[in-house]
Amino acid sequence: MSNLTFGIIKPDAVAKGHTGKIIDKIISAGFRIRGMKLIHQSKKQSEGFYAVHAERPFYGELTEFMSSGACIVLALEKENAVKAWRDLMGATNPAEADEGTLRKEFAGSIGENAVHGSDSDENAAIEISYFFSKLELV
Ligand code: ADP
Ligand code: MG
Repeated sequence: MSNLTFGIIKPDAVAKGHTGKIIDKIISAGFRIRGMKLIHQSKKQSEGFYAVHAERPFYGELTEFMSSGACIVLALEKENAVKAWRDLMGATNPAEADEGTLRKEFAGSIGENAVHGSDSDENAAIEISYFFSKLELV
């Protein structure tokens, strides 16, 4: 298990002013923030990031949404980080997310669901390096 994962506070949550509350919960849950920046992705950038979903029916909608406004990209450190961060995020569909999870509290729909998290150590490494150089990891 790696101790690093990659997260995004998605444009819906940033636009609604939830950034501070989400970062507070990340820190309270025991993550160390190793990298953090505010970015506004181009459509091309978000298409590259979500290339694994290119064949899914919601790919156009997803990449349109992810490039629709500012978001926060995060490199997060904790023991067993991938699982710990997905546990804090909750289920993809907020209607199925457990009480106390970020998606339960902040997500509006299955598409605009407040946060992203890597699904494996391998993808965490790929996703961190998509947005951060080594020098940007503190
Ligand atoms: P997760 O973000 O929980 O890892 P997935 O990797 O399956 O979920 O999907 C990536 C993202 O695509 C989701 O977070 C969500 O924003 C969007 N998405 C997933 N399923 C749907 C759907 N059925 N309709 C619209 N958007 C979806
Ligand atoms: Mg996923």
